[in-house]
Amino acid sequence: MADQPSSSFTRGIFAGVVLDSLLFPYPRALDERSTDEARTVRRLIKSLREMEHDLIDSAKFDEEETIPENVIRAFAEAGFLGLTIPKKYGGLELSSSAYARVFETLSSIDGSLAVLVGVHCGLGSKAIVLHGNDEQKERYLPPLARGDFLAAYALTEPEVGSDAQNIKTTAMLAKDGSHWRLNGRKIWIGNGHRAGVIATFAQAFVERHGETVQRMTAFLIRPDMPGFKVVGTVHKLGIRGSTQAELSYEGMVVPADHLLGAVGRGFGVAVHVLNAGRLTLAAGCTGATKRSLKHMATYAEDRVQFGHPLADFEITQRKFSRIASEIYASDSMLGILASLVDRGDIDFSLEAACAKVFASEMVWRAADDMVQLAGGRGYVKPYPYERILRDSRINRIFEGANEVLRLFIALNGIQAPAEALKEVGSALRRPLRNLGLLGGFATSRVKLRLGQTSTLDIELHNRLKKHKEFFEKHVADLGSATDRIVIRHREKIVDSELMLERLADMAIDLFATAAVIARTQNLIDERGLEQCEHEIALCDLFCLEAGRRFRENRNLLDSREEDVDDGRRRIAGAVRNGKGYFVTDAILEE
Ligand SMILES: Cc1cc2nc3c(=O)[nH]c(=O)nc-3n(C[C@H](O)[C@H](O)[C@H](O)COP(=O)(O)OP(=O)(O)OC[C@H]3O[C@@H](n4cnc5c(N)ncnc54)[C@H](O)[C@@H]3O)c2cc1C
Repeated sequence: MADQPSSSFTRGIFAGVVLDSLLFPYPRALDERSTDEARTVRRLIKSLREMEHDLIDSAKFDEEETIPENVIRAFAEAGFLGLTIPKKYGGLELSSSAYARVFETLSSIDGSLAVLVGVHCGLGSKAIVLHGNDEQKERYLPPLARGDFLAAYALTEPEVGSDAQNIKTTAMLAKDGSHWRLNGRKIWIGNGHRAGVIATFAQAFVERHGETVQRMTAFLIRPDMPGFKVVGTVHKLGIRGSTQAELSYEGMVVPADHLLGAVGRGFGVAVHVLNAGRLTLAAGCTGATKRSLKHMATYAEDRVQFGHPLADFEITQRKFSRIASEIYASDSMLGILASLVDRGDIDFSLEAACAKVFASEMVWRAADDMVQLAGGRGYVKPYPYERILRDSRINRIFEGANEVLRLFIALNGIQAPAEALKEVGSALRRPLRNLGLLGGFATSRVKLRLGQTSTLDIELHNRLKKHKEFFEKHVADLGSATDRIVIRHREKIVDSELMLERLADMAIDLFATAAVIARTQNLIDERGLEQCEHEIALCDLFCLEAGRRFRENRNLLDSREEDVDDGRRRIAGAVRNGKGYFVTDAILEE
């Protein structure tokens, strides 16, 4: 039976249900789906590789904390500033799969350029593509595609980051309705100092159920609007070639026709754009991890210690194998996620969050392993390793901090079981609303229907059978653990972050495992078993390690762990009271 549109694989596994048809058969490669688009992507990748040698000087971008205009111009001429813009407005109108693939290569070359392009194409321009009206698209998309100016996306404020629903910037409509006046501050806005158009957000008054309330509303603004000011730019740990600006809106006059979407619907706009952006971020992290592994493989062959290349040592090999198997998993998730996004009728928000969390933690671990393998050279310039490590770090923070995304995954996942208990269902509504989950796809429920089961009802090769068995057992475990936890904690579950974090980690590992199984089966079908030995080895290692993590997290959901969690809370309380470490020094007290 076909799955309902807007059902979600990850939501399903929390209910102990495997929605096979969302993963199987594994999506076909881009070449088979659209030869034209595959050709365009190859051309873009080739041009990136050429620019990598002639034009892109990552060490210089990092040192000088800027990307020169001639590089941006060359990017515009090659089409990189119109990747997500429809053809009718002069862009390349890439599908999400194609855009993610280009972004993967770009991120493997330079993290700062990836952020510049990602903010321009994936956030600023994308907000107009998704939510602009025809007039706004006509006006802004052609110059954005040509690279006449850059786009930005300004949500974050000094007082409000993760809790974006509660931004403080206000928007007041003039009495004659001709314009809005915005007051507020935005910080760390990528491209903000030189953007020609910025999608931004402010609280406007709206009528809801007979009451006047403030609701987030989206606008398009330009630097020439009276009251707009770039306060300054910031120095950073990594991605230093990209620039983030602080913006101030002081009674900024925004013409009424620059409202983006409907009044009061801005949070939906913000979340919609960010959801799609997480695929790209995960793709970028996967590309950057491939580059780190390449650096490691090269370095470890050349560097000889104790009479052997570093690559001969088993500890080095453990690092290689773990990173390779995680790249395989991340890549497998990307293939599925990109095709879900391109389908357009599926709730992919949880899979996007899973892929973002997984890939951003993978890229950081791999960069750390790379620095360690390179020893002292890992830590000093002019070697690229320390810069790559610094560039990697931001991915766990922006486009949804990973802690917040884990809550997003778990709170969504427990939604269906929680609805059965009235007080839990209503307690869930507050955090879900704050995380932007009560709109559009996000309200979709898992409905157990005839034909839906907790098993992978797909014929798999014998070589994958044991992974299938463990996967099915673990889905059943997640389903029953979710029920148990909701019943045990009732409405308090929404604040039990340690439990939610474990549930989210279990779901992330299950989604990754399912993606790996689906991809490996597909490769076996295409090439035959003998030609897939490497991929099967990666699949075996990943499934084994993910399974171990899963079981560890499952055991930590046990009620006995609550005593340990109580201990953690007590220690955290002491840290808070003592403003840090609170025990006398073991050697000498100051
Ligand atoms: C280099 C850079 C580029 C950026 N680009 C842009 C941009 O172009 N446009 C834009 O609008 N914004 C941008 N940002 C802002 C970015 O999206 C925010 O930094 C991010 O959303 C986190 O917000 P915050 O920094 O205020 O952290 P906070 O919300 O203060 O959170 C701090 C930390 O607390 C933890 N935390 C938060 N909530 C919870 C919770 N409920 N439970 C447990 N832990 C929690 C997380 O670990 C989090 O990292 C950028 C930031 C940087 C540094």
